Amino acid sequence: MKFENSLSFAKSLDAQDELRSYRQHFHIPKHQKKDCIYFCGNSLGLQPKNTEEFIRKELEDWRTFGVEAHFEARKPWFPYHEFLRDDLAKLVGAKPKEVVAMNSLTLNLHLMLVSFYRPSGKRRKIIMEYSPFPSDRYALASHLKWHGFDPKKDLIELKPDNGSYHVSTEKIISCIQTHKNELALVMMGAVNYYTGQYFELEKISKAAHEAGAIAGFDLAHAAGNKEMFLHKWGVDFAVWCSYKYLNAGPGSVAAAFVHEKHLNDKNLFRFAGWWGNDPKTRFTMPDDFIPVASADAWQLSNAPVLSMAALCASMKYFSETGMKILQKKSTLMTAYLEYTIRHVFDAVQLNQIYQIITPSDPKQRGCQLSVIVSKNGKKVFESLCDQGVMADWRSPDVIRMAPVPLYNSFEDIYRFGQALQKALKQHVQ
Ligand SMILES: *Cc1c(COP(=O)(O)O)cnc(C)c1O
Repeated sequence: MKFENSLSFAKSLDAQDELRSYRQHFHIPKHQKKDCIYFCGNSLGLQPKNTEEFIRKELEDWRTFGVEAHFEARKPWFPYHEFLRDDLAKLVGAKPKEVVAMNSLTLNLHLMLVSFYRPSGKRRKIIMEYSPFPSDRYALASHLKWHGFDPKKDLIELKPDNGSYHVSTEKIISCIQTHKNELALVMMGAVNYYTGQYFELEKISKAAHEAGAIAGFDLAHAAGNKEMFLHKWGVDFAVWCSYKYLNAGPGSVAAAFVHEKHLNDKNLFRFAGWWGNDPKTRFTMPDDFIPVASADAWQLSNAPVLSMAALCASMKYFSETGMKILQKKSTLMTAYLEYTIRHVFDAVQLNQIYQIITPSDPKQRGCQLSVIVSKNGKKVFESLCDQGVMADWRSPDVIRMAPVPLYNSFEDIYRFGQALQKALKQHVQ
């Protein structure tokens, strides 16, 4: 499509957008009484207007039934996580028994590492992405130390291609092959939080398996952003949070995926808790843990119903639309944002010093674009804030922006371009 940097063009894209009615289902923060340009959906998704009602119903049932709400509530609490199962499975391309909503993201990563990072002999190394989210790095390093190893030797950080911020799939596969006799695990963010690069999970999983290793992914920036097929791709495990693209609110319940091939493995080690026990015998309080033959077996505790209610509220929109349609709009929006940013950089002659570091190939990115603003970057960012743009600043010089298909509009992007041009004229030219 040939883009134009004009309000009428942006409005015409909105008019053709089959998802445009979803914006009205969200609370958009205001700036000087007008809607903000909210590009922080990769950090904290906006609140759906139905969240309050979903949570209120659970408060009512608690008030009405007390402890009996475990069985008497409109949505009984005892199996509450099951209400999310089908939607979460659809979201990541899994079978329902392969997914579970539980705990928080980093905790789920630790639980998966307990089961799937099982070093033996020389096979102990872990490959991780370039510049991972700090929590992932800490989690991986702590497991190495827990096993008595040295992260400096055994935690391998992929290096970006020359002169680039990305790591090509060829380079990842070649790194896996180089370490094939010592590799226990490949664990990467599916979309890198910093550069926005989306990795080829299927090829990476295959290469890991050929090397005799396990492949796990952190989907924090991919769930609700990219259409994925975890089961078909043979991914061993994955974890993700629900407060970014999934709009379930701050610190809301996270999720995990465990591939079917591992679900009946009696030798698999796991940290256990009563909620992972077979529900048929859970309340008879048996002495021996009998894991249920699904991802539910990794649950530790009874469900955080209030935060799961918020996730139920927001998953409604994902199940109505589906990732295919969301991704289609997202691809167009991000291309329009990229066009707009380049157009503005051209207009103010900054193409030399400012740079989009997210891959331009839509297959290698989600909705996020990251831009290096190496001259007066913080001032430019502050000027954007003053004009009602909410984006994300990463020290020392990166602005991350994520237009989200459920609630952002093409008009948001046009207006962002205007704000950016003004900011650059003020502080850089
Ligand atoms: C957001 C994010 C986290 C945050 O972890 P929490 O346990 O939810 O606080 C971890 N890893 C990645 C890759 C993230 O993007």
